[in-house]
Amino acid sequence: MTINRELFDQVMVPNYAPSAVIPVKGEGSRVWDQDGREYIDFAGGIAVNCLGHCHPALVSALKEQGEKIWHLSNVMTNEPALRLAKKLVDATFADKVYFANSGAEANEAALKLARRFALDNFGEQKSQIISFNKGFHGRTFFTVTVGGQAAYSDGFGPKPGDVMHCDYNDLAAFEALISDNTCAVMMEPLQGEGGIISPEAEFVQGVRELCTKHNALLIFDEVQTGVGRTGELYAYQGLGITPDILTTAKALGGGFPIGAMITTADIAKHLKVGTHGSTYGGNPLACAVAEAALDTVNTTEVLDGVKAKEALIRELLTAINDKYKVFSEVRGKGLLLGGVMAEQYKGRAKEFLVEGIKEGVMSLVAGADVVRFTPSLVIPEADIREGMARFEKAVATVVANNA
Ligand SMILES: *Cc1c(COP(=O)(O)O)cnc(C)c1O
Repeated sequence: MTINRELFDQVMVPNYAPSAVIPVKGEGSRVWDQDGREYIDFAGGIAVNCLGHCHPALVSALKEQGEKIWHLSNVMTNEPALRLAKKLVDATFADKVYFANSGAEANEAALKLARRFALDNFGEQKSQIISFNKGFHGRTFFTVTVGGQAAYSDGFGPKPGDVMHCDYNDLAAFEALISDNTCAVMMEPLQGEGGIISPEAEFVQGVRELCTKHNALLIFDEVQTGVGRTGELYAYQGLGITPDILTTAKALGGGFPIGAMITTADIAKHLKVGTHGSTYGGNPLACAVAEAALDTVNTTEVLDGVKAKEALIRELLTAINDKYKVFSEVRGKGLLLGGVMAEQYKGRAKEFLVEGIKEGVMSLVAGADVVRFTPSLVIPEADIREGMARFEKAVATVVANNA
């Protein structure tokens, strides 16, 4: 059997458009394709590979648990799940943890819990969910409806109801929308897929105060920002406020699928026996790997390293931009950074990604106007410099093609 990109078009549902190369091996922040070509990885599997590829601590946790027990379902609990839950509770505001397999599922659990909490405490009129335009919360029908891009949720029939949106960083619009009938507000503490958009301090503060005033639960979707990405273990810890529910996934398993919703005991108690569940949620293999990932990331060494690496990437991107003038700004926090297309390159972020692959560097886009960089949190300085040198060549090509 010939395994190549053409086979994708033959046998896969066409909802993705993967690049032409097929990676077969990864080590740290380097990846090799079928032809042995090497790439520097600034994509990190979309902010998932927080410790790069095949980190020894994760490989040994996987192997060790792989020879003990793989799966039980929630008819039984298991040691890795309990250890991971205890560590998440110790490291955050939360008292209780619910495990899922992905970001969307963690958010689905958060939204269902918020609805049930409001119903139990205030009655069925309190069902409104507010979220923000350009927000992204996953692809289940509930989460994609709560997400702020109607294009992703249109065309699938009737949507879950009482979901409303307003602009991120527009506190006046939010204040006009929220009321005592608001059950929950779901937001990212830095919009990722929507274009690497940071919240203003007064906005976050104002949202928190208005949620408290109207007894609405504030749900922080930290699926992309969580587990060290912004230089804090969770981004809320750098914003001076505490959410009521937080969801985490992507980097939590360092590449092994897992998600979690964490909250206070007072809120959690509304998800009684039988109200919600997942067959795989809290799977021992996933939790063993996630425990190793959390242990490794939640150290001052790694978290301070994120801030130092951010500074270096900003410096190198700025130097590239001084020469080629392709970005209007470099924005984001920690190792969730975006180069925003200058006027002349509007809508063309993907070209930089495609030329980057040809030069041996993997990056991402966040919408049509932002090139996104989400490398490993422990990427060596030498790989950052080499990767940015390759990225500069890609930029030079796009600029030359434009001339
Ligand atoms: C990626 C992402 C999700 C969805 O996670 P999946 O694991 O793909 O379901 C949800 N919220 C945010 C903020 C994300 O970045």
